Amino acid sequence: MKSAVFYGKHDLRVEEHPMPEVGPHDVLIQVEACGVCGTDVHIYEGDKGAAEVTPPTILGHEFSGVIREVGSEVKKYKAGDRVCIDPNCYCGACDPCRNGVAHFCENMMGYGTTVNGGFAEYCAVDERQVYLLGENTTFEQGAMAEPVACCLHGIDMCEIQPGQQVVIIGGGMIGLLMLQLAKLAGAAKVALLEPVENKREVGRKLGADVCIDPVKEDVKERLAENGMDWVNVVIECVGRPSTIEQAIEIAGNKAVVMMFGLTKPDEEIAVKPFQVFQKELVLKASYINPYTQKRALDLINSGRLDVSSMVYEVCSLDKLEEILSRPEVRAKGKYVISPKM
Ligand SMILES: [Zn+2]
Ligand SMILES: [Zn+2]
Repeated sequence: MKSAVFYGKHDLRVEEHPMPEVGPHDVLIQVEACGVCGTDVHIYEGDKGAAEVTPPTILGHEFSGVIREVGSEVKKYKAGDRVCIDPNCYCGACDPCRNGVAHFCENMMGYGTTVNGGFAEYCAVDERQVYLLGENTTFEQGAMAEPVACCLHGIDMCEIQPGQQVVIIGGGMIGLLMLQLAKLAGAAKVALLEPVENKREVGRKLGADVCIDPVKEDVKERLAENGMDWVNVVIECVGRPSTIEQAIEIAGNKAVVMMFGLTKPDEEIAVKPFQVFQKELVLKASYINPYTQKRALDLINSGRLDVSSMVYEVCSLDKLEEILSRPEVRAKGKYVISPKM
């Protein structure tokens, strides 16, 4: 089968790979759509600590497809089912797993990180990780369930109360999901900070009350003009020190600052503790997608969450390395790989 195999830093090869073995509890999925994620970029760049990857590995953890074969013990699914997956498998036996925080599992296995994933024509996945797509949900939409699940965990931790004011920094895929989830959580006003005009345009379409160009405009002034003089929650979706510092700056009294964007492992930020003290800020971060995959897919199936407007291009495996290696290509929006192409 055609696969994109990661061999090490800056070394990704599209090549023939043996078909995966289907264990008794596995289903064989013919991959229809697999999203390219920031985590894939970190892995490609060889950043330490982003994910435990032992090359050679087929990356790709945001995917959907059709079941072509089921293992002897599989009861819940059958060939022909349209599905997506939660890539993160927990052991169930370690201390975190037995204390309700399974996402800190000490023996975590991840499709597309620790074991082969979805940047290939086929992937064998344990049935416990599989979710049926709704009738009207497309494969591209289904592939977004994992990033949506990660965003849901983050939004839950923001504890948005109906009527609050929320600022989203960064209008990429994640920022545009967070924008919609903040509205669904009850925010009265949501502002989007994003320097690229067409991303601000998508933000407007998805319900942002104010879209601000943080490079050309005075952010605090624009927020105040629009009645956003007490920002309760700031969600940083870029992962740069300067934007995290900006999030702390914009946050109002008692605000939650969610550092959602993934920084490089060694990155540091300059924080004035006095500012945190003066405003009683709560600084938070959110790690992967514990227990949120079903809600994510239900939201997508319901049609209440737009996961399509931010997809820039669906392309073949041959384009993957260009996407992973060139920030200016990625800046255009979310890419989805269709291994059949
Ligand atoms: Zn991802
Ligand atoms: Zn565990």
